[in-house]
Amino acid sequence: MSRVYNFSAGPAVLPEEVLKEAAEEMLDYQGTGMSVMEMSHRSKAFDQIIKDAEQDLRDLMGIPDNYKVMFLQGGASQQFAAIPMNLMKKGKAGYIITGQWAKKAYQEAKKYGEAVELASSADKTFSYIPDCTDLPITEDMDYVYICQNNTIYGTVYKELPNTKGVELVADVSSCFLSEPVDVSKYGVIYGGVQKNVGPAGVVIVIAREDLIPETPAVENTPTMLNWKTQADADSLYNTPPCYGIYICGKVFKWLKKMGGLEAMKALNEKKAAILYDYLDQSELFKGTVEKKDRSLMNVPFVTGDKDLDAKFVAEAKAAGFENLKGHRTVGGMRASIYNAMPIEGVQALVEFMKKFEAENK
Ligand SMILES: *Cc1c(COP(=O)(O)O)cnc(C)c1O
Repeated sequence: MSRVYNFSAGPAVLPEEVLKEAAEEMLDYQGTGMSVMEMSHRSKAFDQIIKDAEQDLRDLMGIPDNYKVMFLQGGASQQFAAIPMNLMKKGKAGYIITGQWAKKAYQEAKKYGEAVELASSADKTFSYIPDCTDLPITEDMDYVYICQNNTIYGTVYKELPNTKGVELVADVSSCFLSEPVDVSKYGVIYGGVQKNVGPAGVVIVIAREDLIPETPAVENTPTMLNWKTQADADSLYNTPPCYGIYICGKVFKWLKKMGGLEAMKALNEKKAAILYDYLDQSELFKGTVEKKDRSLMNVPFVTGDKDLDAKFVAEAKAAGFENLKGHRTVGGMRASIYNAMPIEGVQALVEFMKKFEAENK
């Protein structure tokens, strides 16, 4: 068996320990004589799995009791619609456009109400986070929406925007559980898990109870997108993504064992610094975003020469560094170094980049 260093932006690397455990339990989950994939979502065994997963997530993030945790399907993209459908009571919301995912959420919201662009960094290919200290936010807005870590462009909000008292809704898909978070600063915090938490097919929505409406703001909201239905049923209104939730649960336990989110933050900072420090002194490779807004999770870089970029990606792949090609819309390279990427992977990548630089001067 040989495992590569997988720098994919998502679905992405998972802790080896978790995969091994899942493999061991594949045919017989804890004496049940069946795989979690084969088991009823109403069974005692699964009930324990989803309850433990929720409790471990609550412990890790310090989620206050007045927040509901929902394990749903449809990915982050489905929540682009569910958010306005549930929350747009006054019919208006503000969006900060820091990349493609924020823009998609904004465009989706426009179908259900008035979505206002509060700020954008499109003028410089989303290579920075706009100043969010004094945005044109008005009282008649139901929420302010951000994409906290911009997976494609490699930027992150180091500080949350001043929302002037309006509820904050954040897509944290690509920075989920990468560092401690004060959940109480958000009305809703959500993310698809396939970047930093688990296998594709699960999206976790953490919403303050009083924001979950008795009936959705938008008429004829599909039952499956009605947060109240999902929250009241403890994510078991219909069959949830059982196996995915089980793996997420194992990742939560792994994170606890690793020392929790403070420890992950320290490790992630250390990993990112190895890569950024090299980029900052390299004569061949350059980081593409403003230093102050650099993501700890997604690190885009270029040589400035498309052919050389392609050569690097090909040679890196041959050497066991997978998925370093940048997003198809931006080109260049991107190394996603989520929680489960070992520090050795980042060190080895930098060594490989140094060698490539020496050979291609
Ligand atoms: C990947 C990603 C999405 C889209 O996720 P899906 O689960 O594929 O819908 C949305 N937002 C961010 C920040 C992402 O990284």
